Amino acid sequence: MDTIIFDVDDTLYDQALSFHTTFRKLIGDHFSYKDIDQIYRASRHYSEMLFDQSERGEITVFDWQIGRIIRACEDFEIPLDQEKATTFHHFYAREQANIKLFPEVIELFDLLKQSSKQLAILTNGETDHQSMKIKQLQLNQWVLSKHIYISGSYGYAKPKKEIFKIVEEELACNPNETVYVGDSYEKDIIGAKQAGWKAVWFNHRNREVPKNSRWYADKEVHSAKELLAYFQKLDSLQC
Ligand SMILES: [Mg+2]
Repeated sequence: MDTIIFDVDDTLYDQALSFHTTFRKLIGDHFSYKDIDQIYRASRHYSEMLFDQSERGEITVFDWQIGRIIRACEDFEIPLDQEKATTFHHFYAREQANIKLFPEVIELFDLLKQSSKQLAILTNGETDHQSMKIKQLQLNQWVLSKHIYISGSYGYAKPKKEIFKIVEEELACNPNETVYVGDSYEKDIIGAKQAGWKAVWFNHRNREVPKNSRWYADKEVHSAKELLAYFQKLDSLQC
């Protein structure tokens, strides 16, 4: 493999941490970790669904940002009005200014950079917000700025084939020698496989493969440690 491309959210860092902190602060600190984890999972489900609607111009970006927490709370019968959801979103966005890379991801980036692999980032979302996170994670230590692709700047988002093909063309990479690493089966694995790339599913939240999926990951790992070990093994085999 010559080119390795990474998703950002919940792949390079633990996205649930900011959610848990925000939830405890604004909704209540009497909920258990497990309860908040369930609500977080629901919010990610709604986030992906509403993101697609905002991409199609059916709802605004703001409706996507607050709608995901309102609907997740609804599922668990926690009342949350629009005003409180707005506060939640702003607090959550501010919390993301404290995100940190998984330690094994730092090791992985160092390894890949030393092996002279071409590294890139492909992330869904609004350009300024994703750029803030990329800066906080200091990804420019390993990835050239011109190799960081944010869907909001292109008008196409994962899993659309167009965005994968734009990246492929700009990086001048061979799809057979390109691997994409991401946590979302629907966005990352299906998107990368449709583009003819290899795909590594970073399934650290132990999600299920969607029923009747036509596409499968080339490799599935369940922790940042396993992800690092996978690339270390490939590196020793000089793939
Ligand atoms: Mg992700």
